[in-house]
Amino acid sequence: MDELKKSEAKKQKESLFMQSKHTALLISAEDKQKSDAFAKKYMEFLNASKTEREAVKNAVALLEENGFQPFVPGMQLQAGDKIYVNNRGKAIIAAVIGTELLTKGVRLCAAHIDSPRLDMKQNPLYEEHELALFKTHYYGGIKKYQWTAIPLSLHGVIVKADGNTVEVNIGEDEGDPVFCVTDLLPHLAPAQMKRPANEIVRGEELNLLVGSMPFNQDEESEQVKLHILHILHEKYGIIETDFLSAELEAVPAFPVKELGFDRSMIGGYGHDDRVCAYPALRALLDCVSPAHTAVTILTDKEETGSDGNTGLCSSYLPYFLEDLADCFGVKGRHVMHASQCLSADVNAAFDPTFPDVMEQKNCAYLNHGVCVTKFTGARGKSGTSDASAEFVGTVRRVLDEGNVVWQTGELGKVDAGGGGTVAAYIANLDIDTIDVGVPVLSMHAPFEVVSKLDLYMTYRAFCVFIAS
Ligand code: MN
Ligand code: MN
Repeated sequence: MDELKKSEAKKQKESLFMQSKHTALLISAEDKQKSDAFAKKYMEFLNASKTEREAVKNAVALLEENGFQPFVPGMQLQAGDKIYVNNRGKAIIAAVIGTELLTKGVRLCAAHIDSPRLDMKQNPLYEEHELALFKTHYYGGIKKYQWTAIPLSLHGVIVKADGNTVEVNIGEDEGDPVFCVTDLLPHLAPAQMKRPANEIVRGEELNLLVGSMPFNQDEESEQVKLHILHILHEKYGIIETDFLSAELEAVPAFPVKELGFDRSMIGGYGHDDRVCAYPALRALLDCVSPAHTAVTILTDKEETGSDGNTGLCSSYLPYFLEDLADCFGVKGRHVMHASQCLSADVNAAFDPTFPDVMEQKNCAYLNHGVCVTKFTGARGKSGTSDASAEFVGTVRRVLDEGNVVWQTGELGKVDAGGGGTVAAYIANLDIDTIDVGVPVLSMHAPFEVVSKLDLYMTYRAFCVFIAS
């Protein structure tokens, strides 16, 4: 009798309780293999795409390989046509025209390709006590102490006085030199260690060490700085003033690696948010004859609040959708009203070392699949778009029917902190929008961690969403 009761309760529990399980328990051996293969391709992309500019460049190459062509407003378009818009080399929109009327809306996948880093200031180079350094200004939300004493590479562009642009990429190739921000030795750090954590290393102490050898033996001041400028002049044809019109970004110089004895995870720089951008792009490249027009947007400036003409607070997305609507003789706002968007950004994964910031019934876990986040924001849901129950219901059905392993998660406990994504800016265009993405450990650190299975499930989520 007891046994019977127990199994009835068990049956009831199985049908009534919410289940969240390790993805490995739910997927086939074949899917596991596909996940490993996908991770490999992603790691290649990430190693070659450490800045928004490089991500756009590599995305354009992939799009063109797959038959995408630059969009020209007013062009004749039909189902199956593949187009893209390169927004100033820092953001990109790509689309595959669907078989349905455009007024049925588009399926929009959005992710960002900028990541926290150290930007060089506009007058960066100086010499102090026979060392040459660059002044930096950090970009995005970082814990400054994490950026000291690690190898950094330098990426970006310098626009010279004559208007010509030179590209810089030093520190990635075998044999390249690297750079670093120095930190104080523990022996002499008792005073430093008494500073509050957000000041252990201060913003103006994030100075990048770039040289130490004088130009020659002449009795002249600033010989080390001169030596650096001499090298840069020989290599790039630049003079010091050219830094004024440059964008140089220091990022971790090490490549991404498989992580763990079981190689189940990927550790590296820039997962936030290229771990969503790459699958969003891949899903668009792989989609075949979608019913709804599929649009993927990889945007810049998310980490600084999405302002600026390459960020999603600007109008480049609605302008594109309006131009697209014009090609079919319909109104852009009607297209947007009928559209649906997966705003893909990473979420915080539960970290057993720091459990206190999470409410464990409503947080994301590594390997439990793509995370669907109904709302983000801080305090009383400030700064969020909060997807409607109806749209969550739609997305839930699409994911379940597509056998996508997914979980729900909020960004930490109520009042523990918070943050936002581009979801609100897209929802503000009258588009149904929800956040989805990959759970991450050590988010915004120079070495972030994700799971391969979660990455693959995020790709699968985009695929089934585009096909819905
Ligand atoms: Mn992000
Ligand atoms: Mn971020």
